Parts: sequence; C-alpha cells; structure tokens
Amino acid sequence: AEKILEIRSLTTGFLTDKGLVKATDRISLDIEKGKTLCIVGESGSGKSVTALSVMRLIDYAGGIIEDGKVLFNGQDLVSKRQNEMLKIRGNKITMIFQDPMSALNPVFTVGEQIAESLRIHKNLPEKEAWRQAVDMLRKVGIPSPEIRAKQYPYEMSGGMCQRVVIAMALACNPELLIADEPTTALDVTVQAQILDLLQQLKQEFKMSMLLITHDMGVAAEVADRIAVMYAGALVEEGTVAEIFDRPRHPYTIGLLSSIPGLEGERGGELYTIKGSIPPLSNVPSGCRFHPRCPYAMDVCKTNEPPLRESATGHKAACWLDDVGEDDPRPGKPNRA
Ligand code: SF4
Ligand code: MG
Repeated sequence: AEKILEIRSLTTGFLTDKGLVKATDRISLDIEKGKTLCIVGESGSGKSVTALSVMRLIDYAGGIIEDGKVLFNGQDLVSKRQNEMLKIRGNKITMIFQDPMSALNPVFTVGEQIAESLRIHKNLPEKEAWRQAVDMLRKVGIPSPEIRAKQYPYEMSGGMCQRVVIAMALACNPELLIADEPTTALDVTVQAQILDLLQQLKQEFKMSMLLITHDMGVAAEVADRIAVMYAGALVEEGTVAEIFDRPRHPYTIGLLSSIPGLEGERGGELYTIKGSIPPLSNVPSGCRFHPRCPYAMDVCKTNEPPLRESATGHKAACWLDDVGEDDPRPGKPNRA
C-alpha cells in the first residue's frame, strides 16, 4: 500500500554539556495512506520528540535531528528549510496537543481563529473563511455553530475547546494529522467522544493519523498499527491484533496489564512493570529494558537485541525470540 510517512532510522537529541543526549535512537516507522499509527509509551520514551521531529518543531524545542530521514509523500522533511516547512506545517500536516487551551488564543472568538487559519492557508476572502469556519464547527459536532463561532475559548468546556482545535487543524484538509495525547486532559466520557470524532473525521477527510498516547486502551480504540517505544527506542510494532493477542516484547506485555479487564482474559499471566523509565542521559547497556525485565538473561545486559520482523511484518526487539522451548513469555508470541 502507498505510504504517506516513512520515518527512517531517526536519531534525535538534545545537546548538553555532556554531549548529545539521544531522545530517539534509530527509529523507523511507516504510516500507510488512510491509516492510523499509534505510538505508545511512558513519558520520556521519545514519542513526542518523534512527532515534533516529523513537524520539524524539534528545532524550536531545543533539539536536533542527528540522523535519519522523514519521508512525507516521498519527500524528505529533514532536509527542508524552515520556510519550506511553513507550507507543509498547518496545511498538509497538522498537529493537536493535550491541552486545547494552549492552542487557542484567549482574545479572539473561536470562529475568528478558524477563519484566520483558512485565510492564511487557503487564501480565502473574509466572508467565505467565516462561512467555512462555522461549517467546520458543525462537522466537529459543536451544536449551534453560528452562535458558538462568536464565543471565546473561556466560554467553552475543555471538550468543546478540543473540538475547536480539531476543527482548526482540519480546516485546511491536511493529509496527515498528528495528535499528541489529544484526550489525556479530558474526563473519560469526553475522551471517548473525542476519539469517536477523530475516527469519523479521519474517514470523512480521508486523512492519515499519527496518534501518541501512554494509554493502550486509547490505542486499541483508534489504531490500525501500534508502535511501542521505550527509552528512545522502538521495541515492538505490529497490528492491533498482533500487539494485543500475541505481544512479543516484555515491556508491551507489561503495558497491556495496565488495562483493566485484560488480565482476566489472559488468565492472569500478565505482570506489572516494576521501576521507572531510565533518564535518556543514562540509558542501560544491552537491552535498555533489562533492569526492569522479569525475564532478563545475561546476554540482555551486554547486547542490544535487534528489531526482528515476522513474516506478517510484526517487529520486536527481544532476545527471547531465540530461546525456543523455554520461552517464559505468556501465550504464544509471534516469533520472528
Ligand atoms: Fe527482557 Fe532480554 Fe527481551 Fe530485553 S532482550 S526485553 S531484557 S528478555
Ligand atoms: Mg509527551
């Protein structure tokens, strides 16, 4: 299938007095046109940095792209100048964040803000921009959009504001929407509504989506494929069914145990991950998960496991793929 995004061996980081601290280490990921890839991991895993790198916003966050490529429709974004990125960002690729308030300007009405974006990116006259802004508010499920368009962000709830942000992001009909924890700040019912809305709009606008979340439950709702990141590395990637039914990496297996109800279904074989994610300035040797892994072997402490791909394209980086009969992982992992 045709790919909208191909991230190739992306290494990013932050320059410190001790040298480059890597935030992502040789990450490769693909998104097919019309599909949703979810990147899942704890905070500090490098998932947001990956998204910011695609947008080339990492430059403004004090980070650098050390190596690798980000191909968007076959064009490398890493080698583009920022003035070229201005034509892509907010237009062909848009991004929404956890806190909708930070994306909205408190002194303009929501209608004005969406219309402004349409004027800039689509070069629309004022009246037509306003008409389309109201239309976008309707499409994101805001009731009485003509009235709501004239309101200020503070007059709306968090969920409504996130709908406005989504309307703003989609007004220019982007090919790729990047959403970084878009529902984390919202309460559970509103969270489900926003996820439904994103699913519905993805179809309607025929776009592709990169969604970042720490929540496996969210990924299960919206993803076609799931990528699991740990301490700056990609440790597993596959379809939702592969990740949920035949997880290979012990970190993924642990993450799944954070979903209420799943443990019972799987016969209580899951375990809780102990300890916390290492600082990026001090990533463990060998397999970077080894200090927290209940199955760690000697080889894990010294040798970094390669990412290996099964016949169906399910990738994982774990030495347990080599142990055969004595494999301690629950279920029947989908070996390389
Ligand atoms: Fe655990 Fe070793 Fe696999 Fe790393 S390579 S996840 S330490 S078993
Ligand atoms: Mg983050």
